[in-house]
Amino acid sequence: MPTLSFIVPCHDEEAVLPLAIPRLLAAGAATNESFEIVLIDDGSTDRTWELIADAATRDPEHVRGIRFTHNFGQHAAMLAGLQHARGDHALLVDADLQDPPELAAPMLARAWEGYDIVTGVRRSRAGEPWPKRATAWMFHRALNLVAPRPIPVDSGYFYLLSRRALDRLLALPARDRYLRLLVSLIDLPRVAFPYDRAPRLAGHTHYSYARLCGVAWHAFASCLRRPAAGTRDDTPRFEINTTTS
Ligand code: UDP
Ligand code: MG
Repeated sequence: MPTLSFIVPCHDEEAVLPLAIPRLLAAGAATNESFEIVLIDDGSTDRTWELIADAATRDPEHVRGIRFTHNFGQHAAMLAGLQHARGDHALLVDADLQDPPELAAPMLARAWEGYDIVTGVRRSRAGEPWPKRATAWMFHRALNLVAPRPIPVDSGYFYLLSRRALDRLLALPARDRYLRLLVSLIDLPRVAFPYDRAPRLAGHTHYSYARLCGVAWHAFASCLRRPAAGTRDDTPRFEINTTTS
């Protein structure tokens, strides 16, 4: 069992992966711990899967791939990656490395101090236009007005989770709800980890304003939803059709 699993959702990231995979491998090696990189191809239409499969073939000890049959969205990709993580800790990282994987080592250092959840909190967001920063600022604060537990403002999905936290997260019913809500519901020691968000390595964001509205809707609905009697809402919403190991 490796010490650390990097979980990397990838949708149409052919521009980024030739740079990102070597950097992830170097960041993993720099932790001086055993590690794996789990790359989830979320229904890409470009060469993303070819690049993942090639990296997994070259370095099967460190790289694994999961391929979706369809674009199910970042949320489903992250959950599938977390489900397949073999590590004692899992670190969620975007394929464009806006959340620098080199921070794995200092984040792990916080985990060794006894924190099960280390949450990356953005001190700055280079390369993002001001309307996006302003709407994100408002979204994070408005969400906390309805969230059952505080959700750290200015944080994304850059979480380092211990195996204990991960197992509790995956055992929660209604895993289709907004991930930052689910993490807030885990009762384990947590700490904020301030960092500077980098610009995208290459390529472009997948989140238009329309799609960001969809994310906000999902987040608010997740916080406000009450369970309906007699329904099961923990049915997985994704499919996996290829795994290399
Ligand atoms: N992503 C994904 N499925 C999607 C959209 C995005 O797996 O349908 C991945 C994407 O490849 C990246 C991460 O989610 O690794 C964040 O996406 P992006 O960088 O476009 O978002 P932004 O940083 O602009 O919010
Ligand atoms: Mg990005």
